This record gives sequence, structure tokens and C-alpha cells, in this order.
Amino acid sequence: SKQTQIRNFSIIAHIDHGKSTLADRILDFTGALSEREKQDQFLDKMDLERERGITIKLQSVRLPYKAKDGQEYILNLIDTPGHVDFSYEVSRSLQACEGALLVVDAAQGVEAQTLANVYLALENDLEIIPVINKIDLPSADPERVKDEVEEVIGLDASDAVLASAKAGIGIEEILEQIVEKVPAPKGDPDAPLQALIFDSFYDAYKGVIVYMRVVEGTIRKGMKIKMMATGKTFEVLEVGAYNPHPVAMDELSVGEVGFVVASIKNVKDTRVGDTITDAVTPAAEPLPGYRKTNPMVFCGLYPVDSSQYEDLREALEKLELNDASLAYEPETSNALGFGFRCGFLGLLHMEIIQERIEREFQISLITTAPSVVYHVYLTDGSVLQIENPTLMPEVQKIDHIEEPFVRASIMVPNDFVGTVMELCQTKRGQYIDMKYLDTNRVNLQYDLPLSEIVYDFFDLLKSSTKGYASFDYELIGNKTSNLVKMDVLLNGEVVDALSFIVHRDRAQHRGRLLVEKLKKLIPRQMFEIPVQAAIGNKVVARENISAIRKNVLAKCYGGDISRKRKLLEKQKEGKKRMKAVGSVEVPQEAFMAVLKME
Ligand code: GDP
Ligand code: MG
Repeated sequence: SKQTQIRNFSIIAHIDHGKSTLADRILDFTGALSEREKQDQFLDKMDLERERGITIKLQSVRLPYKAKDGQEYILNLIDTPGHVDFSYEVSRSLQACEGALLVVDAAQGVEAQTLANVYLALENDLEIIPVINKIDLPSADPERVKDEVEEVIGLDASDAVLASAKAGIGIEEILEQIVEKVPAPKGDPDAPLQALIFDSFYDAYKGVIVYMRVVEGTIRKGMKIKMMATGKTFEVLEVGAYNPHPVAMDELSVGEVGFVVASIKNVKDTRVGDTITDAVTPAAEPLPGYRKTNPMVFCGLYPVDSSQYEDLREALEKLELNDASLAYEPETSNALGFGFRCGFLGLLHMEIIQERIEREFQISLITTAPSVVYHVYLTDGSVLQIENPTLMPEVQKIDHIEEPFVRASIMVPNDFVGTVMELCQTKRGQYIDMKYLDTNRVNLQYDLPLSEIVYDFFDLLKSSTKGYASFDYELIGNKTSNLVKMDVLLNGEVVDALSFIVHRDRAQHRGRLLVEKLKKLIPRQMFEIPVQAAIGNKVVARENISAIRKNVLAKCYGGDISRKRKLLEKQKEGKKRMKAVGSVEVPQEAFMAVLKME
């Protein structure tokens, strides 16, 4: 296909503004889906994505489109995740595009992640086409939203498409604007090959399948290619594109997006962000890769069944292949045995990886409470980076501790400003600024410790604003805080996996709440179990879990077999998630209890 007829674009939006629905409608309109496939949200492949209604992994599809000018175009739609945790993946997909549809809900208007995504698109020099979606809603106010796009974002919205992805309104106009406004890819089809790897998957039969965009030159079946970062060479067995099903082709030329199969067995040979070149006449330099984002939230992942340790390692290896933001290294815990310390971009990222390991690899996990990275300045002048509370040195050796802070943007209707300010205050926030978005919405800025956000900030924000607030944040650096390590003792012994870092002023309160919570979560056993929270040697809170008096089964003596079976099954179910810590059986939830305490 001719280079001048190619248009590569993404769709960016705040979550729930209709990106997936619009993508489906575009697939539909260009005839990519058969009747049978016209189920909702074709692009959200993973079950998990469908269930949670969020898009995690980026996907790309090649769509033929005959425009009103009578010419045939190839539109490559590259899907992006909408959640703030995945901005790393958003910028990956945007780097493969020349344009982006900016979808804004006609009733909600511009939200925090609308802005965040626009910034990413502008950084990548993309042509942005505003689409005001959901105009079918009775509460839609497209004119107000157009004004917001102009005033808050600073884009010209005079040509914004008024659309309803649900009702199929405005779809053709969107496609026409893509053809007209998004530039065709630049580059030379005869230059030495440079193709950017933006994703990859492991296929049991074909080996690693690489998703890439050709930036210079042409990639052909039978060609010898080289991965520029690792120097490994392969022979191309297959090239092709998704329409949305994989279709083999003879070659992919400059500007085209598709997949490559080259019997690549080792997942580590295809690093996302690396450049593929011609092994015979290689390009002089690799393409600029991706900015690597550092994980901000860490937790321990342990197999419930310790014999699955190696399986867990393999699962993490496979997931890391197309998720460069996932970090992990082995760690051991006295309480939990062998596992991994894993780093994530945020809490949602953490939950998704956890769920994927459990579902796709069938490993049941114990997860410890998440932690951020603390910079610990010691009295001897050295500095430690601590991402595991267990490793915090003794108080006597510490001069001071710094923790990461973020600048948060919270967009909220006027009525909730007071509530949100109060919430930020209780989370140790520092007021920075307040701006009016329009007559009834404001953008509040606060600096907050990342650790407070990692805990329950997002949930509290949503519940205290009836879901009206939207939220985004960026890391701004470290600041000194008065922090201490809190240990939890079960039956007189410190359970390392339960330790956490807390601000001194709130330590007493948190310790109290945690032991009360643990008392409820840990089942009674044959003996009494003291539960204590302590800072150093000082116990700040204590509860006792009293001993069981009689067998629970004794209650349902006699004929009621089904009730007895239910009870046994329930106990078995519970057992799966229990970990014996010393002599005490501790359920999974206990390790996360520290998260939800207020
Ligand atoms: P995403 O998070 O941006 O991918 O949003 P989705 O495409 O999953 O849509 C979120 C919700 O909005 C779903 O319940 C959709 O059915 C609904 N939705 C999407 N587009 C429209 C529209 O044009 N009109 C109306 N009324 N609802 C829509
Ligand atoms: Mg979606």
C-alpha cells in the first residue's frame, strides 16, 4: 500500500468517556468485524479488561477505508489504556502514531486524565482531533464541553466532531477528519530498516510475536533481522497485520504497523522499545527508545503453595516481556518463605498483575501491603533506598527519612471542594492552587505523600464526592517526613510481612486500628493469640484472639450432611489463602489489612 494513504492514530480519553465503544464502532463502520463478532468491545481482549471495563494492553488493527475523495486508505488504530497507572503504555502507543482522537464525554467534560493524555499526545507531536462523545445523553452539553476543550486544554474545538459511539452518530465524520488531518507517515521505504517494537506476546507454537511499527525501510518475509539492543539475529518467518484477525503479508513498509514472527524462543531477546534492523545492511543507529518509567509502588508476592515458587518466577518473566514497567526480584520473608518483591506503576497496575498471575498461570498468591521507596539517611552519612519496610534500619542509626511526594490535580464540582480539601488535609496534603474550570467545577492542586495515595486515597475521593471527582498525579520528588516503622507481633513474634512505615503522629492510631482489624480477620485457634503493634520495643496497641472452645463441626451433629459439607468446603476454601506464620494460621486479607483502615 502507498505510504501517502496510511494514517496511524490512537484514541485517548478519560476513563468511561467511550473510547472502547468508539473503537468498536470504527471497526464496525470499516467492515472489519463479521456479524458474529459485533460483540461489545472487541479490542479489549483480556477477560480481565472486559470485566473491569478498562483497557490494559494496547492492541492495533489495520482498517481499509474508502474515503469520500474516492481513494482507499489504510487506517491503523492503536488502542491505548485510559488509566493513569498505564501512562507508560499510552506513550508507547502514541509513539507509533501521527494522530489521536481525543474523546470527551459531552456530559462530563474535560477530566483529569483527559488532560494527562493530551499532554502525552502533544509530547509526541500528534495531530489531535477532538470528538465530543455521548451527545445522545439528555444531560449532554456539547457547547459547554467545546468551550472547555478550548479553554482548559487550549485546542481549537471549532471542528470538533459531535458524536455518539453508542448510537453510531458522527463515525464517518471522524474517519474523514482522520484522513484529512492526520499526516501520512514520513520515511524512506528503501532506507535501512528501523522498526520500533511496541509490544510482544509469547505464543506456544510460534514463539515470541512482536508488534512493531516500521519507521524507515521495509521488513519482508525471509529477511535476516537484528535486534539492535541485544544484537541477536533471526530470520523472518511471517509478517502481517491484524484486521482484527492476523493476516500474513509479504512485507510491511515504512509507516506500517503489524507483527513479525521469527522463531524467537527467548522472551528476553525482544525488548519493548528496541529497534529491529536488517542484519545484512543494518541502520547506523537505533530509534530513540521509550522513556523508562520507574515503579513507584512495591509489594511482596508469595505463592500460597511454596512448591509454586518457580512457576511464579516464570509467570513474572512472561508478564515482564510486554510490561517493561513491571520490576521484580527474589526476596524471602520469615513469615511467608520464598517470593518476589515486585514494583508497579500504581495500585491498579499491582492488582491487575496479581489477578493475571492467579488467572492465567493458576498460582494463588499472598500479597503483602504495598510500600513506596523511602530514602533513609543514616547517621554515618550513607543513604539507603528502602522499598520493603522489613529492611528499615534501627531507629538509632537513622538521621532522617525522605518519602516521595506527588502533585495531585483533582477536578471536582464546587459543592465538593470542602470535602476534598478536608480529605487532602487528613492525608498530609499541602494546598497548592485552585482554579475554576467553568462556573461550577474547579481544579484543585495538592502536594501529597505518595504513600497516602497508595493507601485508600482514590477510594475515599470517589466515595466522598459521589464519584464526581477525577484525579491525576505526577511525582515531584522527595521530602523529609517524620516516619517510623511499625511492627506487628503475633503470639509474641514479629511477622515481617506485616510491618509498615507510618507517620509518627498517626502511628498510635493506625496501630490501634490494625490490631483491631487483625483480631477480626485471624480465625480463633486452639490457643489464645496476643496481637500487638509496636514501634521498636514499645508496644502501642494490643488485642487478644481468644482460643476456640469446641469443634465447629460439633454443632451440626447428626443428619445434616449438606450443612456439614458446606462448612468443610468453606474451611477448605479459607485454607487455600491461609499461611502458617509460626504456629498461627493467617489469612491473605490480614496482609492487606493495613491498607484499608479508616
Ligand atoms: P472507555 O473507558 O473510554 O473505554 O469507555 P467505554 O467505551 O467502555 O464506555 C463507557 C460507558 O459509556 C459504557 O457504559 C458505554 O456503553 C457508554 N457509552 C459509550 N459511548 C456512549 C455514547 O455515545 N452514548 C452513551 N449514552 N453512552 C456511551
Ligand atoms: Mg475502554
